[in-house]
Amino acid sequence: MFDSRETLTTKAFVAGYPIKHSRSPLIHGFWLKHNKIKGSYQKEEVAPASLPDFLTALKSDGRYVGGNVTIPHKELVLSIVDYPDELSKELGAANTLWVEDGRLYATNTDGHGFLSNLDERHPHWDNTNSAVVLGAGGASRAIIQSLRDRGIAEIHVVNRTYAKAQELADRFGPKIHAHQWDALPEVLQDAGLFVNTTSLGMEQNNATAIDFRSMRSGALVTDIVYVPMVTPILEKANEQGFATVDGLGMLLHQAVPGFEKWFGVRPIVDETLRSLVIADMVEHR
Ligand code: NAP
Repeated sequence: MFDSRETLTTKAFVAGYPIKHSRSPLIHGFWLKHNKIKGSYQKEEVAPASLPDFLTALKSDGRYVGGNVTIPHKELVLSIVDYPDELSKELGAANTLWVEDGRLYATNTDGHGFLSNLDERHPHWDNTNSAVVLGAGGASRAIIQSLRDRGIAEIHVVNRTYAKAQELADRFGPKIHAHQWDALPEVLQDAGLFVNTTSLGMEQNNATAIDFRSMRSGALVTDIVYVPMVTPILEKANEQGFATVDGLGMLLHQAVPGFEKWFGVRPIVDETLRSLVIADMVEHR
């Protein structure tokens, strides 16, 4: 039987492969409830070979107003959507999609999430000419792009595999400088921001002994890894007297633009949401 309630519900999705561990439904579910919106946000397990059909169907079947794509679809999606924006084209990856007049649009909100987290938790962090980014993987790209667009004059990228750092310097222009791993102490001197984007410091890994003491006084150290919340890198920076910001807020803030696009309300990242996600991390440790 036709259920009229079904047509009144605005629906969004997160597609990945696998998708079981995504925390996005928890975040969007919280905002839907908090804002009393009759909507849903659900997981879709989509294998890479099925992604073109899944996305093409969205344009005509009206099932979803849009959604997120996550690993391993962030790059592939660019060749399928009708209108990727300039940000996602330069980055070579998108994570947020929406349908408009039967066309599929895409952007990338990871850089927005990164900057908003720092703006919220350590205002004026961007009052510096020099930033050091450790790592040159997928997440690092969005962070380098966002730091450049924020106007940071010199961005030093240090990576175990030098060629990948060089690739990002070539992609994002003359403000970006690629370095070998052993150049880290040198580039840290007088830097105002250090960002870890490597998986060093996640539960099974040991962080290398980074000494932050040559950084500018008042410099900020942040780690986008958020399991554990206080990573060995943040612990060390704290011990050496530097301000730190954890990576959980990046995850929360990157979800804001998508929610606003699909459901028409700009959601708030607050302590209640942070606590909810932390509790979920503890439960599923
Ligand atoms: P990725 O594309 O696989 O890149 C991994 C990076 O870590 C590369 O630069 C890699 O160096 C480096 N690396 C890995 N193991 C290393 C080791 N033992 N020693 C030195 N360098 C090492 O991963 P990603 O997608 O960028 O994600 C990186 C981390 O960020 C993950 O832990 C992820 O959970 C986290 N993350 C957090 C958020 C958030 O919202 N807070 C968002 C995205 C990602 P090589 O190039 O030499 O291999």
